[in-house]
Amino acid sequence: MSASVGELLRAARQRLDGHSPTADIDARVLMAHCLRKPASFLFTWPEHIPTDSEARQFQEWVARRVVGEPVAYLIGRREFYGHEFLVSPDTLIPRPDTELLVDTVLEGLAADAPLRVADLGTGTGAIAISLALARPAWQLVAVDTSTAILDLVERNRQRLGAGNVQPLQSNWCSQLPGPLDAVVSNPPYIPDDDPHLGEGDVRYEPRTALAAGSDGLADIRVITVQSRQRLRPGGLLALEHGYDQGEAVQQILRDAGFVRIETRRDLAGHDRVTLGITPPGDADAQ
Ligand code: GLN
Repeated sequence: MSASVGELLRAARQRLDGHSPTADIDARVLMAHCLRKPASFLFTWPEHIPTDSEARQFQEWVARRVVGEPVAYLIGRREFYGHEFLVSPDTLIPRPDTELLVDTVLEGLAADAPLRVADLGTGTGAIAISLALARPAWQLVAVDTSTAILDLVERNRQRLGAGNVQPLQSNWCSQLPGPLDAVVSNPPYIPDDDPHLGEGDVRYEPRTALAAGSDGLADIRVITVQSRQRLRPGGLLALEHGYDQGEAVQQILRDAGFVRIETRRDLAGHDRVTLGITPPGDADAQ
């Protein structure tokens, strides 16, 4: 006799235990996606019998999760800022910490002005699209390097109905003309030899989206200098960074001539986002 939802979940939890820190929720998310039902269905109908192909899909996903594949890559989705984004192994999996970066930009700029804002290294497009949906008056440029990533951004943009997002293929600001009102980025910021790169979900994510030189700050330096040249006077730069990089990033912004520099903390109380503006009335900015 075929196994019920409740039986399959129990067996999966046992297989995942010790391999995933979130065995119970992983099993439920994978099952809900196999059945194409909301998570509440699993509580209401534990005696439901999945079809053979649903059960096979579930077992295959559990086996891949046991060896470490991230749930978001298995189901191809991850929620961020209340929206469901398609994800692929070409992109970083959006993290709750990064919602602070979105909040920081929303707070820092006029809501109803027709502002031009670039998201550098957009990946799934999560930051650009979340900003665009919250601020229909703004124009977002979603920048990344590969056509595969930009195709994913385009699919997310269409699915979520963000008409004010323009995907752009560019290495940071190289193909991005100024003037911009704001630049936002969650760049790679982990030091190349950080052991964290060999642990958990991070092992499956693209290294180019994670690691940035011996101190992890190589890309933040490039982005800061290039943004300074393209931001209009009084324009905002907001960057995510590692919990121990707040002071170093502040110094990089100061050296590039940014003012009103500050660092914000994430929900865990760690330094996570540093922002600054170009001097108002600045002759260097375009
Ligand atoms: N915060 C992520 C991590 O430590 C890294 C994200 C990034 O490099 N932009 O796993």
